[in-house]
Amino acid sequence: MAKVCDVAIVGGGAAGLSAAILLGRCRRHVALFDTGAPRNQASRAVHGLLGHEGRAPSELLAIARIELARYETVTPHSDLVTAINRSGSAFLVTCESGSTFSARKVLLTTGLIDDVPCLEGIERLYGRSVHHCPYCDGFEHRDQPLAIYGSGDKGAGLALMMKQWSSDVLLFTDGQAPVSADMAERLEQQSIEICSEQIARLEGTEDSALKGIHLKSGRVIERSAMFFSTGSHQGSNLSETLGCRRDDKGGIVTDPVTEESSVPGIYVAGDASRDLLLVAVAIAEGAKAGVAINRALLREDGLG
Ligand SMILES: Cc1cc2nc3c(=O)[nH]c(=O)nc-3n(C[C@H](O)[C@H](O)[C@H](O)COP(=O)(O)OP(=O)(O)OC[C@H]3O[C@@H](n4cnc5c(N)ncnc54)[C@H](O)[C@@H]3O)c2cc1C
Repeated sequence: MAKVCDVAIVGGGAAGLSAAILLGRCRRHVALFDTGAPRNQASRAVHGLLGHEGRAPSELLAIARIELARYETVTPHSDLVTAINRSGSAFLVTCESGSTFSARKVLLTTGLIDDVPCLEGIERLYGRSVHHCPYCDGFEHRDQPLAIYGSGDKGAGLALMMKQWSSDVLLFTDGQAPVSADMAERLEQQSIEICSEQIARLEGTEDSALKGIHLKSGRVIERSAMFFSTGSHQGSNLSETLGCRRDDKGGIVTDPVTEESSVPGIYVAGDASRDLLLVAVAIAEGAKAGVAINRALLREDGLG
């Protein structure tokens, strides 16, 4: 038989934990599901988060889970949510383990998964000296020789932007879509060279710093860090099967005040809605969703 709760939160990263703390403080019965694969798990340090500069991502979440433990109405479950279906005025949440839960409201905080370029040697360097987000990691590589990886004008746009962090920027299109003539001219004005040759592999040092980019031609180009622009996709298809509307970037459309999706009763916070993809924003959206859900429940119970 399904266990009954007020709110099911699917995803226990920054957004989900933030909402769970808010709802726990409201004494709501919350079932929090998580499979333990936050988007930044490859990274060594969180940057740009007030009060936590340089903290390991795993440590940040561990602290939040300790803080959450004082709210006895919140129950964490290490389980994958495989289906969510409407059932009368509630939602039936089904987990991989076979457990089922009936929840009055659902919050999806399932995050995004990055499309990391398919380059030999990248795995050991990703999150250390190969990054996707200049706001997260640009400062740590300031004034270094930078490689930008990306095809077409998207890659070129990132290369232009990276001039803010270093004067030595080189764009690698890896034999893929070329840059438009307009963009090529802008790159030239900024002294950014384009390398359109195919990449064979990335070479790193013992401590995962990028050292060189080996081209298929045999040429090796020394670089200290790489930033790429290959995109990301939803970490779960639950919103799709529920019928939540997506925008043209693949983000789940939400109300900017309540974080509710186009499906009443289903809320979305954090990276999944593709606002700014930062921990601080995920925490803020989780808190907003927590308050909005509590208000909706108060209204339904004649208390709001
Ligand atoms: C390499 C890297 C470095 C980064 N560095 C920074 C930085 O320095 N500063 C910064 O502000 N931001 C950084 N970010 C961005 C940051 O990671 C995200 O903004 C943040 O993790 C978003 O939090 P979230 O809770 O929305 O999603 P996530 O942290 O991705 O959490 C989603 C959770 O949902 C779980 N999940 C998914 N589907 C299911 C399901 N069906 N059932 C149960 N659980 C599920 C996953 O296992 C995961 O634990 C970085 C990102 C990357 C990739």
